[in-house]
Amino acid sequence: MLLEAGEHLLRSAYAVLEPDHRPSGVPGPGVLYLTNRRLVFEAPASGGVVRDLLRGRESRLVFDGSLQAVRNVSVRRARLGRAWLVVEAGARRPAFDVLDPEGWVADLARAKQSLPPPGVIVPTVIEREVVKVRCRYCGNLGNEVAGRCPTCGASF
Ligand SMILES: [Zn+2]
Repeated sequence: MLLEAGEHLLRSAYAVLEPDHRPSGVPGPGVLYLTNRRLVFEAPASGGVVRDLLRGRESRLVFDGSLQAVRNVSVRRARLGRAWLVVEAGARRPAFDVLDPEGWVADLARAKQSLPPPGVIVPTVIEREVVKVRCRYCGNLGNEVAGRCPTCGASF
């Protein structure tokens, strides 16, 4: 995922998009990103693995909602089975199977509160942004572009 100037990543995780909201040809698993401006879900275009997706190969942007457009987020919990993170944005209501959906709801609410009020021009500094990804093996953060975990050396 490409970050805009002044945009930074708050949270990212492996997530599965609910079948009802999948465009044809897009598999459910992908990566959900929360930045200070957007909520983005990227899935591999042809059944590839998330590793490829994180390197920016063959990824397909499925959901790219500005936080202003996100009206509400909630956790839908079935009596049996998974909890879904439900995002209401415009006419869409995509739901994601993601670890710690309550944490996502809290972080999304915080990010929305930190948005500048409409009409306020925020000065931005153009800088090179590096997307941090969490290592699946040791849990530490590393640079997406490095391709390897700086702590344990596992490839991303
Ligand atoms: Zn590691």
